[in-house]
Amino acid sequence: MRILIISDIHANLTAFQAVLEHAKNQWDVIWFLGDLVGYGPDPNECVQELQKHNHIALSGNHDQAVLGNLDIKSFNREAKFAITWTKEAISPETESYLKNLPSKQVEGDFTLAHASPRYPVWEYILDPLTASENFNWFQTEFCLVGHTHVPVIFEERLNGFRKVNVRPPQYGQGRDALYLGPERLIINPGSVGQPRDSDPRAAYALLDTESMTWSYQRVPYAIHEVQERMEKFGMPKRLVNRLAYGI
Ligand code: ZN
Repeated sequence: MRILIISDIHANLTAFQAVLEHAKNQWDVIWFLGDLVGYGPDPNECVQELQKHNHIALSGNHDQAVLGNLDIKSFNREAKFAITWTKEAISPETESYLKNLPSKQVEGDFTLAHASPRYPVWEYILDPLTASENFNWFQTEFCLVGHTHVPVIFEERLNGFRKVNVRPPQYGQGRDALYLGPERLIINPGSVGQPRDSDPRAAYALLDTESMTWSYQRVPYAIHEVQERMEKFGMPKRLVNRLAYGI
């Protein structure tokens, strides 16, 4: 099966559509790792777009916050604004779609979790220590996570004790695709709608479960169009600006 792996769309329809166009005819199903809404100007449109396709979707911390399931005290000022704005903007259909999403799911050799297998909506796997602890929290060979908006692979090496290697993404297909295994991996595809690795292009990945290959991808999109909609809605300047820098 060929799978389009995406995460953290964050109500950015322009980035989402650029990914769909770029990956056209290369996948059979979408696995979306959560945070469909929050930050961006197009929450309803992103839900409608995802629903057009054969897909599995997880719920992220922003989706939970918009539904009122998560205390937003620890969110920063801009994130709080985005949650409040999104609560007002979403339709009853969007709300009921978001309500039915799990935060963790197992698909064959893959455990999918928005943030981490240990705390599916609220832990950032940014370093080898956190990754190392999380290898105890899933039974499958591989775990796919989003949430940090940074594409990365953590590889488990067992040699009497556990050591975790950090592998930055390599972009490309064919010969450049990464063969999965034999080591267990925690893999983050990066973010579609708000990348934070200093590369503003939308990030996604293609997974082929027959050949067991993983291919990281980046695609440029019309960032200014999204920024114009955000400005029209009076969204905080910092949220508008960060899209151009990928931070
Ligand atoms: Zn996110």
